[in-house]
Amino acid sequence: MKKIMEVQIGGIKCDAVGCGFRDDGVKFSEYSHYVGMPCPNCGANLLTQEAHDHAMKYIKMATFLNKWFGWMGRDDGTYDAVITPQYDNKGMPDGVKVKKL
Ligand SMILES: [Zn+2]
Repeated sequence: MKKIMEVQIGGIKCDAVGCGFRDDGVKFSEYSHYVGMPCPNCGANLLTQEAHDHAMKYIKMATFLNKWFGWMGRDDGTYDAVITPQYDNKGMPDGVKVKKL
């Protein structure tokens, strides 16, 4: 199926200042498991409910847009834009980064 955009989310990182814990092997489908989990390094919340809901909102939006407007996408399977949700150092949603391809 052709797509016009892709949401790229993956890996988990601790947003506490100076901690630096990250696990890039975590898939988005596993995120709900990490909501409220303490960081193994510093004990801060690894993934807030707000951050998870924020990411889900963009996944749903992209799924919707691809469903209805995917026909405008490219034939080679690449997409026009990549969306990456952003978070501040408290793990709170901080908009999105959109990269036009
Ligand atoms: Zn940490």
